Amino acid sequence: MSLRALPKVELHLHLEGAAPPALIRDMARARHVDLSGIFDAAGGYRYRDFTAFLRVYEAATAVLQTPEDYARLTRAVLEAAASEGVVYLETFVSPDFCGGRDLLAWREYLDAISEAAAASERDSGIVMRAIVTCIRHFGPDKARQAALCAAETAGAFLVGFGIAGAETAGRPGDFAYAFDMAREAGLGLTAHAGEWAGPVSVREALDDLRVSRIGHGVRAVEDPALVDRLAEAGTVLEVCPGSNIALGLYPDWRAHPIDRLRAAGVKVTVSTDDPPFFHTTMTGEYDRLADAFGWEAADFADINRIAMAAAFCDEATKDAIAKRLETADV
Ligand SMILES: [Zn+2]
Repeated sequence: MSLRALPKVELHLHLEGAAPPALIRDMARARHVDLSGIFDAAGGYRYRDFTAFLRVYEAATAVLQTPEDYARLTRAVLEAAASEGVVYLETFVSPDFCGGRDLLAWREYLDAISEAAAASERDSGIVMRAIVTCIRHFGPDKARQAALCAAETAGAFLVGFGIAGAETAGRPGDFAYAFDMAREAGLGLTAHAGEWAGPVSVREALDDLRVSRIGHGVRAVEDPALVDRLAEAGTVLEVCPGSNIALGLYPDWRAHPIDRLRAAGVKVTVSTDDPPFFHTTMTGEYDRLADAFGWEAADFADINRIAMAAAFCDEATKDAIAKRLETADV
């Protein structure tokens, strides 16, 4: 069985960051926005360094302006994910970009996204759930407004709350109130940490935000005591190796710490983050990991079981997906 056909669980994907270049080009053309500078000759996103990446990302995602745009985006993203064997996907969505944190507008965007997801589930069986992310560099007040949007719409589809954006802006503790609101609403919690900032950012996310999952978290490997703590607590890392390598965090796949973290007993999972921007796919990630570390289908099945157990959806959904993983012919 090829790694493409292996059923996969993906926990860390930014909806806008997964936008296929063709969709963005199409939307830009319809709105007479010139985005030609952000694409390379093959039609993919083009950037040289992290600053340019942010500029291209912002330019591309700025064409997504209405709930209908997000419905189209959701369909396209889920179609691409399903073709990589993804059977369950948790996607970050942000009230900052969907309605400017206005609750009524946010409901319209979320309805459009969840209806599109339901249609994709009928078509290809892929199950999507959403996690609201606040944006760290927008500050704690806007994070509270995003958390309110999340708390008011928590349910079967909107299952989690998290924080993304510049890891070096402010301290996790500044966002504790937003996370408390989300926790009280019954949402699962995750935070980006240990990517651009060091191990201390992971400790702070655990202590101050009390999350069960860390987005990235790979730099925990620099602190052996923290690695032990993650292993003992069963904290799940949403690791996105291709993203880390594309952005220069590690020079190549062999240098990436995912295998060392896993060997130390940390619960690692594999995701793509913003796949077209990093010229990756879930199958691409699996292939590179197999090449670099000799991981086989059984290793990936193990990682997918860990990911499903750490998913924020309800138990019935978890059981149904877990059965699909177990009955896969690997
Ligand atoms: Zn991310």
